[in-house]
Amino acid sequence: MSDQPVAADHPGYVWVLDCPCGERLRGDSEDEIVDISLAHLGERHPDLEYERDHILFMATKFRR
Ligand SMILES: [Zn+2]
Repeated sequence: MSDQPVAADHPGYVWVLDCPCGERLRGDSEDEIVDISLAHLGERHPDLEYERDHILFMATKFRR
């Protein structure tokens, strides 16, 4: 039973996205890392446009 898929918002994982500007963004779920990344992009990189899929592709999920 150890190969069951882990829920996207599993509390044992944290999502991390290293922005090219050097900022490390963290979220507790897919939704949170997407929200945080979009907020960061809008504030610091208004010329960049990313969608949810791009952010999740770039983000890495770590076990806490
Ligand atoms: Zn950045």
